[in-house]
Amino acid sequence: SYALSIQGLNKTYRNGFVALRGIDLHVREGDFFALLGPNGAGKSTTIGILSTLVTKTSGTVEVFGHDLDSHPLQLKRCLGIVPQEFNFNQFELVLNILVVQAGYYGIKRKEALARAEQLLRQLELWDKRHTQARLLSGGMKRRLMIARALMHQPRLLILDEPTAGVDIEMRRSMWEYLTRLNEQGTTIILTTHYLEEAEQLCRNIAIIDHGQIVENTSMRQLLAQL
Ligand code: ADP
Ligand code: ADP
Repeated sequence: SYALSIQGLNKTYRNGFVALRGIDLHVREGDFFALLGPNGAGKSTTIGILSTLVTKTSGTVEVFGHDLDSHPLQLKRCLGIVPQEFNFNQFELVLNILVVQAGYYGIKRKEALARAEQLLRQLELWDKRHTQARLLSGGMKRRLMIARALMHQPRLLILDEPTAGVDIEMRRSMWEYLTRLNEQGTTIILTTHYLEEAEQLCRNIAIIDHGQIVENTSMRQLLAQL
């Protein structure tokens, strides 16, 4: 079965700019999938549509069979998104950001605290739990975004350029974390404009350019062609 199924997705922005032209994309449950493309290709637009921040012009989107138009809440429950911008409340304490997020999903406080502790320890943020988010380094903020997206234990995690601005050592540690998460059963899709990241992590890959999928193959086949 498919974790993500996108068919004929089009997006024209209000100013008339055509950002997506008939995107078809199918990602199997359990996959670690890369959406690779240059800046401006349409990666963030695609993720914006999944997170309902951007409205699509036409096409269908399903997450584990839940249609975005007819079952948005069911879709939301199995999807975690890590956008590029840090969109948490910068003045909030790290632990509270996670507990508040859990509240949106109806998770009880005790359970939320247990999940938050586990995630903060795994992502090496436990020592920062009583710190305001704005005081974290860029890499820590990025990990906080990941922890927040995982609080409701989504079956599909989508990350938009997860290691942008992260130094090489921290990047490796994030790669290891994501690999472990995938091995434990979470389907992962990440966008990147950086082939090495896709190569390190992903089994399958789609390349997007000017709002179109120009290649959709296994990582191994793509590397064999280069
Ligand atoms: P990527 O994430 O691959 O860099 P984006 O999805 O952010 O690409 O952007 C795709 C194209 O859509 C870019 O040319 C961008 O300038 C344009 N775009 C993004 N947001 C808007 C908007 N709100 N209005 C008009 N054009 C936009
Ligand atoms: P969010 O977008 O999640 O609300 P923000 O960090 O933008 O998070 O804002 C959270 C709260 O902090 C808001 O009430 C906002 O008015 C306040 N806030 C944001 N930036 C500043 C700032 N530079 N100085 C003082 N208050 C701010």
